[in-house]
Amino acid sequence: MSRYNNMVKTELLSQPVYQPGKPIDYVARDLGLDPNTIVKLASNENPLGASPLGIAAGKAAIEDIHLYPDSGCYELVKALSSWCGVEMDQLIVGNGSNEILELIGHALIGEDDEVVIGQGAFIVYKLVTMLFGGKAVEVPTLEHRHDLNGMREAITSRTKVVFLASPDNPSGSANANQDIIDFAESLPDSVLFVFDGAYSEYLDDPPDLRPLIERGKPVFCTRTFSKIFGLAGLRIGYGFGDPELVALLNRAREPFNVNAVAQAAALASLEDRQWLDDCRKANAQGRTALENRISALNIEYIKSSANFVTVRVGNGIEAFEWMQKDGVIARPLAPYGMREWIRISVGKEYENERAIASLTSYLNR
Ligand SMILES: *Cc1c(COP(=O)(O)O)cnc(C)c1O
Repeated sequence: MSRYNNMVKTELLSQPVYQPGKPIDYVARDLGLDPNTIVKLASNENPLGASPLGIAAGKAAIEDIHLYPDSGCYELVKALSSWCGVEMDQLIVGNGSNEILELIGHALIGEDDEVVIGQGAFIVYKLVTMLFGGKAVEVPTLEHRHDLNGMREAITSRTKVVFLASPDNPSGSANANQDIIDFAESLPDSVLFVFDGAYSEYLDDPPDLRPLIERGKPVFCTRTFSKIFGLAGLRIGYGFGDPELVALLNRAREPFNVNAVAQAAALASLEDRQWLDDCRKANAQGRTALENRISALNIEYIKSSANFVTVRVGNGIEAFEWMQKDGVIARPLAPYGMREWIRISVGKEYENERAIASLTSYLNR
């Protein structure tokens, strides 16, 4: 027991600790491997990297790094406004979309408020809820997909927020567009529906919740530059919704929350449509290849709509450790209550093959 236990807020002590995907250098050091031979498929990063235009813009922005960044991210917000088809005052940019999720906690979630999430949903929803003293109400999934009817039924007069990601992480499954829209429509106006579109760029036809926002439904959408845009290391994401809500979230936001390099790189990346298309195509190919190889191993996997595949391997931690010794970093899903599963991000072709080879040797051990 730490001597700070009596000093810190009690909600902090009951929080689960987020376990990020292991960085390559850690694994190399721990296992005595050459970092250059390690394949990291643990955090759903873009295996092709960021757009070369984005990288060039980030490098150029370094030259002026003695200046504070634009706190309102004017140029980026302007570009996002046309990218998303919303007004500029509907947008907020954050230090990763994770920060935006936390701003929602700051602004909306308090002691004993209920927050409805799907079981095994992205763990940050639970962390944010608990951090602000709220109670996460977890609704069991149906065949690895969020049960929207069940989530609707879990709403009470205490519910403040509902978080939903589709495609979901770590399952990779998606709910049907119309089901998501009907679900949003069915929620009482006292509940904010936060729709996390971290993987929406991987969908051919992502759900469009803008008409609901326009009609005054409390709906807020988050997106990120960490996944298909390949800027995870810069930490930048955004959200859009009603201008009044955005103004309130801005009150909770610290000034200069998004650094200048991230703003420049994100802006240039948005303009590189070709890169985005190429990455989307490469992911679709890689994902199909990975799913086919997994299928041939006769083990269960969840049909993915994102840039990773979630696989039932028996003992997730054991398989993860086995693969790690082979220099392949996957993600065990025990923290999500999926002890038998691991998640493998779609990598380059040779990376996917390394993962399959290692998984095969684990299964044949
Ligand atoms: C990766 C991910 C995010 C993005 O987080 P950032 O803070 O923007 O890097 C958000 N939601 C889900 C479901 C994710 O998987």
